[in-house]
Amino acid sequence: MIPFHIPYKTGKEINFISEAINFGKWSGDGIFTKKCQTFFEEKFGFKKTFLTTSCTDALEMCAILLNIQPGDEVIVPSYTFVSTANAFILRGAKVIFADSKKDHPNMDDAQLEPLITPNTKAIVVMHYAGIPCQMHKILQLVKKHNLYLIEDAALALGSKHHDQYTGTFGHLSTFSFHETKNISCGEGGLLVVNDERFIKRAEIIREKGTDRSAFFRGEINKYGWVDIGSSFLMSDILAAFLYCQLLAFEEIQHQRSEIWNKYYKELKVLEHHGVILPGIDLNDSHSASIFYLVLESNNKRSQLIQYLKDKGIQTSFHYQSLHQSAYYSKTKTIRLPNSDQFSEGLLRLPLYPDLSDEQQSYIISTIKTFFNVH
Ligand SMILES: *Cc1c(COP(=O)(O)O)cnc(C)c1O
Repeated sequence: MIPFHIPYKTGKEINFISEAINFGKWSGDGIFTKKCQTFFEEKFGFKKTFLTTSCTDALEMCAILLNIQPGDEVIVPSYTFVSTANAFILRGAKVIFADSKKDHPNMDDAQLEPLITPNTKAIVVMHYAGIPCQMHKILQLVKKHNLYLIEDAALALGSKHHDQYTGTFGHLSTFSFHETKNISCGEGGLLVVNDERFIKRAEIIREKGTDRSAFFRGEINKYGWVDIGSSFLMSDILAAFLYCQLLAFEEIQHQRSEIWNKYYKELKVLEHHGVILPGIDLNDSHSASIFYLVLESNNKRSQLIQYLKDKGIQTSFHYQSLHQSAYYSKTKTIRLPNSDQFSEGLLRLPLYPDLSDEQQSYIISTIKTFFNVH
């Protein structure tokens, strides 16, 4: 069986963890946390970064930082992971779901403006498969209506829109290092603060609402409870694991891109058979986090999943439209046909550095046989 996913190991993670253990500071904000944060800030140009326990937690920090209150509206894609919406619901926000583009799972910027009301506080974008949203168009709207912009960039580490890294556009942005992502440490995340006004408070919220970080820097002579907050720090033991993977970032991305590009080149012919392939803007580059096909119907997708399974190939569909979820649909019914199209038809193929070239060729030829193309 060719598994859908195998998490990447450099093989040296254990050495980094040993170092963290011997160093003797196992809680958050130790040497490895600092090394990771410096890496992110220097490599991608993020203003200020904070390692967190997950991307979900980083999104929850965003909602607290923006002072989201009951009655506030936040525009969120429907085709996304549940945390993109949940983080704001937890603060009492009303989530307004935006539809995907017709030919791409990303939020359709052309349909956004009518969703904005006097109560709208923020737009949250999610770069599906690490393929950037139309950030300049969305930023224009954000400026015009005086909103906040958040990027859920969980899948988009290293992606670029017009020469600018994803994660640098939003006032705040988030990343994930869950086992299923390109770079991982099991569970982990990153909050990016690009707007300086949020830096000081982000540090406090992440430290249970205390000014402990300023105390440890010697800026104040005692610390106490100054704001709301929670325990959002990643253990330095996990940061050591993450740092080990970050040192291999270019290599991992290179290997993933080779696999992604081969799928794209070999399967492009399926566009003549009613299949939608990932569309990339020529001015952009992406993180090669996911390779997907969009089948014309749910039925056709089920047939392909079963066919590949019988041939020893494991594949996986992805998000189910959040507006159709049991949680949301009990209070409201809305129609977002593009999002539904991806819920029903999108299928992800195996994509990880341990996938051999022979295995990939086998996957490609098996898919072509299913569609009767050669
Ligand atoms: C994986 C993912 C998340 C959640 O990340 P965690 O680190 O598991 O909390 C959020 N949003 C998107 C788009 C994701 O792909």
